[in-house]
Amino acid sequence: MPELPEVETVVRQIRPRLIHRTISGARFSVPRQLAPQTPREISVAVRGKYVETIVRRGKFIGIELTGGTLLIHLRMTGRLYVRTARKIPLPYERAWFDLDNGTDTLVFRDPRTLGTIRFFPAGREIGPLVRLGWEPLHDDVSVDDVRAALARRTIAIKPLLLDQSVWAGIGNIYASEVLWAARIDPRTSCSRLSRAQVERLRDAVPVVLRRALERGGSTLRDFASPDGQPGSYQREFRVYDREGEPCLHCGKPIRRIVQAKRSTYFCSACQKRR
Ligand SMILES: [Zn+2]
Repeated sequence: MPELPEVETVVRQIRPRLIHRTISGARFSVPRQLAPQTPREISVAVRGKYVETIVRRGKFIGIELTGGTLLIHLRMTGRLYVRTARKIPLPYERAWFDLDNGTDTLVFRDPRTLGTIRFFPAGREIGPLVRLGWEPLHDDVSVDDVRAALARRTIAIKPLLLDQSVWAGIGNIYASEVLWAARIDPRTSCSRLSRAQVERLRDAVPVVLRRALERGGSTLRDFASPDGQPGSYQREFRVYDREGEPCLHCGKPIRRIVQAKRSTYFCSACQKRR
């Protein structure tokens, strides 16, 4: 699943191709991905609209149009790219937004069709964004703020990082990587983290995500940026997908456990509960 670094890479690459263009028409092949809206509702809403900018919030992509926002979530296998008329369509393309230059189309491709597309008229609250936590790359949060946010939560820190409510944009890969960098056992209850642990966590989140972004994100099975380039951060994984391999700090084998049905990778020597 694309996480913050991968989604941010997508946004940065498509932004110059979309900004200041007008959407001349839109088509959708899987209506369920737009629910509760319909293909007709969204195509009427976006047709003739000017693209003001493209932003990322957590793992969401917001295409800000005159009159509203097109909100896209890539989920497991979604991709977004601009295709010129000369290029052959790829399999599994699900939505097409034609641009006013007559040659380019913003394409949403999604083999598993779990991604979502919604349109929110200007001035209307964008529901999916309301409960998102801090932006890991931009927000300067204090240790006390993070402690306060975690003190109320009794679940383990790893699944908490996935739920988007404290920081938005961290998924399964970067949750394991961040906790190794912060030397925190992923099974530790949020409310039991020491002040020193919270401080290390607060510091590790932006460092790990910025580094991954510099590398164009991580490419596992099928993430590629809109220009087709794979990310390279997977070569720098410290724990993710390294079960049995030596910890790069202490040499002990990396362990894999399952938390909330997702794999967690960690070093039981370097990562402590206190
Ligand atoms: Zn270790």
